[in-house]
Amino acid sequence: ATTPRKSYNITLLPGDGIGPEVISVAKNVLNLAGSLEGIEFSFNEMPVGGAALDLIGVPLPEETLTVAKQSDAVLLGAIGGYKWDKNEKHLKPETGLLQLREGLGVFANLRPATVLPQLVESSTLKKEVAEGVDLMVVRELTGGIYFGKPRGFDTNEKGQEIGYNTEVYSAFEIDRIARVAFEIARKRNGKLCSVDKANVLEASMLWRKIITALASEFPDVELSHMYVDNAAMQLVRNPKQFDTIVTNNIFGDILSDEASMITGSIGMLPSASLGSSGPGLFEPIHGSAPDIAGQDKANPLATMLSAAMLLKYGLGEENAATRIEMAVLDTLDRGFRTGDIHSFGHKLVGCKEIGEEVMKSVDSGA
Ligand code: ATP
Ligand code: MG
Repeated sequence: ATTPRKSYNITLLPGDGIGPEVISVAKNVLNLAGSLEGIEFSFNEMPVGGAALDLIGVPLPEETLTVAKQSDAVLLGAIGGYKWDKNEKHLKPETGLLQLREGLGVFANLRPATVLPQLVESSTLKKEVAEGVDLMVVRELTGGIYFGKPRGFDTNEKGQEIGYNTEVYSAFEIDRIARVAFEIARKRNGKLCSVDKANVLEASMLWRKIITALASEFPDVELSHMYVDNAAMQLVRNPKQFDTIVTNNIFGDILSDEASMITGSIGMLPSASLGSSGPGLFEPIHGSAPDIAGQDKANPLATMLSAAMLLKYGLGEENAATRIEMAVLDTLDRGFRTGDIHSFGHKLVGCKEIGEEVMKSVDSGA
């Protein structure tokens, strides 16, 4: 938990593709919303991903990580592109992102999926089902089957090739992600659904036990449990039943992508990755979109909403966060749309112009 202070160091990592375009616009919005709350920012822009490979030869330069670790929060654009696709693993842009997450010690990945009333027609679901969806998936990011050992390839007793991985969670890892999730549920609507496969997997049985025990520390949060197969079904059947979902690394990977499709607007979705202490990492969920990079076509709203998460979850500056969220809604209400969310009867604008419109909305306190 952070107590509001009035000046902050923000590391900006524009990265690749549309990253620099959306970061530049989001930075201005963050700065303005902050200034209206008496907050001062100093920004440090550092290279990461393909941009860092081209400049320095590694996807995460030491200095970038050092600056990021010393700052109060990190805002990232996007990483990757065709240009580096054939690079060896340690020289891939995406490796820089993994190293950054590891270096910052962020273990909780927060992905909200909100169906905005202005964009309800973008949803892949029927209007009645999609309308009013506002949920948050809290995914454990540094444990589970993606990292568990033993792992590898081998040959079984019949001489057949096998590949194997191990789902491992310690009580410590479960407790710390659960605490983050309970705190978030508390800031939202007080409902937490833990998703596991405790009918089959021991790691899930421990998960359920630890989370159930922790519930007594959060008497104001209503805890429920759901098996992951049912959760995958319920997310498309009746997503409004969910407020905050907490789950492990692999289930969270899948469910957060599923939840994002409920909204249907990849250019609108923010994310946050938090650790126990130190700066959080905030970034849009979309990639570098090389097909539209450098053309002023990118939707910067996901990055602005990531900046709002930075204010809310990273700095504890909820009022400034609300200013950005409200301004984004107001800009949509006034009919402005980038290409990815454009529909008949709206004003089609580019990245910079929608940025300026959001600035006007922030300014007017709408
Ligand atoms: P990555 O591997 O980096 O996640 P990806 O190919 O999976 O990349 P994105 O880069 O997220 O996916 O983009 C998929 C498509 O969605 C893009 O080609 C682009 O047309 C569109 N898109 C993504 N983000 C935006 C945005 N902010 N504004 C407009 N269009 C976008
Ligand atoms: Mg992708």
